[in-house]
Amino acid sequence: MMVYADLHIHSLYSTGTSSKMTLENIDRYGEMKGLNLIGTGDFTHPKWLRELKEKLVEVEGTNLYRFKKRKSNVHYMITGEISTNFEYENVIKRIHNLLLVPNFEVVDQLLDVLREYGDLSLNGRPELEITASEFVEIAKSTDQRVEIIPCHIWTSHFSVLGQKGFNSVRECYEDQTKNLLALETGLSADPKMCWRVKELDQFPLVSNSDSHSPYPHRLGREANVLEVKELTFGSVIEAIRKRRREEFKMTIEVPPEYGKYHYTGHRKDRRYLIGGIWRTHEVDVCLHPKEAIKLNNICPICRKTMTIGVLQRVEELANRPEGYTPPNYISFVHLIPLSEILMYVENTSSPVVKKIWEKYVSLIHSFGNEYNVMLNVPREELAKIAGPKVAEAIIKVRFGQVRYEPGFDGVYGKIIFKTEKDKQKDLHFKGLKGQTKLTDFS
Ligand SMILES: [Zn+2]
Ligand SMILES: [Zn+2]
Repeated sequence: MMVYADLHIHSLYSTGTSSKMTLENIDRYGEMKGLNLIGTGDFTHPKWLRELKEKLVEVEGTNLYRFKKRKSNVHYMITGEISTNFEYENVIKRIHNLLLVPNFEVVDQLLDVLREYGDLSLNGRPELEITASEFVEIAKSTDQRVEIIPCHIWTSHFSVLGQKGFNSVRECYEDQTKNLLALETGLSADPKMCWRVKELDQFPLVSNSDSHSPYPHRLGREANVLEVKELTFGSVIEAIRKRRREEFKMTIEVPPEYGKYHYTGHRKDRRYLIGGIWRTHEVDVCLHPKEAIKLNNICPICRKTMTIGVLQRVEELANRPEGYTPPNYISFVHLIPLSEILMYVENTSSPVVKKIWEKYVSLIHSFGNEYNVMLNVPREELAKIAGPKVAEAIIKVRFGQVRYEPGFDGVYGKIIFKTEKDKQKDLHFKGLKGQTKLTDFS
């Protein structure tokens, strides 16, 4: 069976998360998106854990769960994100790790151990005073079936290879590197960018949404497509670990430019020097790595070090040329959330206004779920339901014929749909995106 899995999300108990991030909403919107496996997120939080134990029921013998109240197709894997905070060469490192846990008995054993390193009730994504390598060792020794995935590995903050992280996975996880299941590429990077660093060949690359909101423009915006005989915790883990193309079909990625940390910059910089006087205009500084390096990474407005984007960080650590493809690579496809495409076409300010939502729902009712709309439904069929403009936009996204204004320093990138005049550029652009290919999705 085909599995569309988003294993990293957060509950309403994580800081900065929507109060709508309830199991009811995750189940409803996850199904509309086309996900059939979702990580619960935040299992370490006492209130969320109580809810999970009350509202989920195990699918007999699978170590995966279903929501008792609804008869949806969505299965749940128990997951949570932990920040490991530790000193390394006199600097505090904060590294985020995704934990995948087979069942609630193992959860209870793990919590007994993790509690010693920090207060688990403060945040759905707790901060623990422990090194990343010790953390992996402890998690694995609690139960060998527990899996650990370093999260959004390139983001400027809180990641193993980002600006504030390390220069290699090994440097951070030491002898526990061998116990990592995979690496999560994060929204601002895609597998192609990771292929430029030789060290990363040893790890499967997974993609998850890290969603803080249940709406389908956030949930499942990145995901993993697997094909397994039977859907169980073990079969999903093995499909990721072995990364055979018959089982690990592809990952769904937002274009890396869309992510919040693609370019280097400073957002809404307030200190603005004009004629020797500090003014409080808000200025966005968003730079390509080449420009940032020319400036020594110093912000031209406030003169502090800018937030180094993922593109620049990859360039710093790359030991292979752009365009290199490792022999055992897994395919991926770039997609933009459907409700955001509708927002651009209809020119509204938000993807959740009534007008957009009605159109979204009519497409989902006609074609089952969002992934099917985005990946498979022919243009004429789409046009019948949502009109020719929407159909055209979906097809353009599907075939990578869209440009993006890159995200930077916590600001999402924006889509730029092209006009007829840009057709020649389209061809060139498609050439640059040569690695992206669609896998048969039936
Ligand atoms: Zn994180
Ligand atoms: Zn997260």
